[in-house]
Amino acid sequence: MEKAKGYNNAVLKTKNRGQVFKQLVTNNGIYRTELAEECGLTKMAISYIVNEFIEKDIAVESFRNEEKKPGRRSGCLRLSPGAKKVIGLLIHRNYISVTLCDCQLHVLRADTIRFEECDTDFLLKKAFELTDEMMEENEILGIGIGSIGPVSSERGIILNPPEFYGIKNVPIVQLFEERYGLPVYLDYHYNCAARAEKYFGMGKKYKNFILLGITDGIGIAIVVDGKIFTRMTGTSSELGHITVDYSGRQCFCGRRGCLGAYMDFSSKETTWQSVEILCAALAGVCDLLIPQAVIVRDEQSYLENEHLEWMEKELNQKIIARDYQRIAVCKSCRSKELEATGCAANVLGRVFSGEIEI
Ligand SMILES: [Zn+2]
Repeated sequence: MEKAKGYNNAVLKTKNRGQVFKQLVTNNGIYRTELAEECGLTKMAISYIVNEFIEKDIAVESFRNEEKKPGRRSGCLRLSPGAKKVIGLLIHRNYISVTLCDCQLHVLRADTIRFEECDTDFLLKKAFELTDEMMEENEILGIGIGSIGPVSSERGIILNPPEFYGIKNVPIVQLFEERYGLPVYLDYHYNCAARAEKYFGMGKKYKNFILLGITDGIGIAIVVDGKIFTRMTGTSSELGHITVDYSGRQCFCGRRGCLGAYMDFSSKETTWQSVEILCAALAGVCDLLIPQAVIVRDEQSYLENEHLEWMEKELNQKIIARDYQRIAVCKSCRSKELEATGCAANVLGRVFSGEIEI
């Protein structure tokens, strides 16, 4: 009984610390009273955690002039530059990149290797080489890996991404854990991007949103009630294979008329056509999920503001819930490193939830 009580207290302590840490890093300066309010903890509990954070060089406290008066001991708290760092590894079809970030996802160092041919050994060798470099002289909290799908985040395996040089069933989490002895997490790269949006980007405003990814294909991440939606097997959602014409073009997945087969952003004319088809498919998705926003991650800048404005107007006219629900369509405000830093955000999410300790 005593043992169970001790265990529960330890879990609660890690959870509370995770909550406080989340507020510390997702706000640009926060006071103890605000922390108490945001985390639903007593001022005494906050004081205890904050003092520990300052002692361990996780947080620093600064005082404005009026706060320096005698008896006033509470200043503004920020993430300490000395706090542990996180690493994000992004695996794409023709490149891998590794990013060293602080816990606010500021990029401290990044490196990319591009390739036109690849196999499992080459992929791992290069991923290890890049990660080794980031390890030097840094205390690392964990490694987050984002990959083209499908992946099983639950089992830590890159499954069988199409057109990926035949690479499949790579137990990447286990291999990284064995090499570095750190917590390692794997997710679909757009889920990673959505996580970065949720903590630090446009997604901060919304509990329910869709991240629409446009690169060489069309991808999606779904955030429901503030959580990234994954299926029971830990695999991610697909958007590119929604049927837009059941007797239409042949898709590599074996079906006909998949959305992805109609996405062509090579000229102004085909871009508009693609936007129209995309919008028709998205209306169905929005009817299912009723998100507050569609955040567009458009790495190559295929879409211009007029496309997004048109999409927003069109979606809000099309959805069945149009009389009582409005959906915002906006561009991701995060930098070009969104996905890479999002991979690192995978580790942060585990700290925030209390799964791992800062
Ligand atoms: Zn398909």
